[in-house]
Amino acid sequence: MYSIPKDGDVVLAIRNVLARYKVIRSQRDLREKVEQELNFGGGSNHVGESRVRRLAIISGVATLKVHTRATGRAGKMNGCPVCGNELTRHRNMTVYGDTITTGYRCSKCEYWTESNNLRLPSRYEFSLKRRR
Ligand SMILES: [Zn+2]
Repeated sequence: MYSIPKDGDVVLAIRNVLARYKVIRSQRDLREKVEQELNFGGGSNHVGESRVRRLAIISGVATLKVHTRATGRAGKMNGCPVCGNELTRHRNMTVYGDTITTGYRCSKCEYWTESNNLRLPSRYEFSLKRRR
């Protein structure tokens, strides 16, 4: 049996991990270190990679760098593949007066993509967000 930690506990663990390591260069690494942090002194908490990533963004404790790779494919995007937030569409008017979607941008994180060559996240880098 394992337990599912509360959001607040996960966020606290993310903050501690980032304060200690400064930069974490993959989401798998962050998940492992967050789990170690949660289970320090016993316990068997489990968290998923995407949950850790979303909480890191939504809570505002982390600065995220998203490395993307171009797929070479055109397509539509429903929701941000990084944080799940709604994407803002960028539109352009064609010479015929139609509007076409040229790209998408997320308002919560730094993800963006063109629509004629979709970019998908391939790697994440996390660091502690500086307080001012
Ligand atoms: Zn996003």
